[in-house]
Amino acid sequence: MTTSTNSPQSRLRSLRYFLHSRNRKREVTTIKTTCTACGDVELSSDELTLELAPAMATGRYGFVCPFCTVTQHRPANERVVAILLAIGVAYSVSDDMVSELEIKEFVDSLDDWLGEISAA
Ligand SMILES: [Zn+2]
Repeated sequence: MTTSTNSPQSRLRSLRYFLHSRNRKREVTTIKTTCTACGDVELSSDELTLELAPAMATGRYGFVCPFCTVTQHRPANERVVAILLAIGVAYSVSDDMVSELEIKEFVDSLDDWLGEISAA
């Protein structure tokens, strides 16, 4: 008759298993995204940062690719923003988003203007 199930080693194994399964449960909150160089990558919520446009429910998120270590940015629509916030991704409100939009509008208007010039 052995009493190995009550040995300290056995209890340690149970504790390790318990902690391991807890960690596995926490790993569920991963986001699948793509790196321009490596393709599909999976990241946990603390590896992502979210930049929100002021007064808008959209923005962009950034991450450092775990394979090539290049910082990537992806646009985030309302649904993506909601998901990222729900899994606890840190976010900041960025004025850059407005500037980028203004620059795009300026470039677009410049194209229109150039179109008018060449058509005349
Ligand atoms: Zn990569």
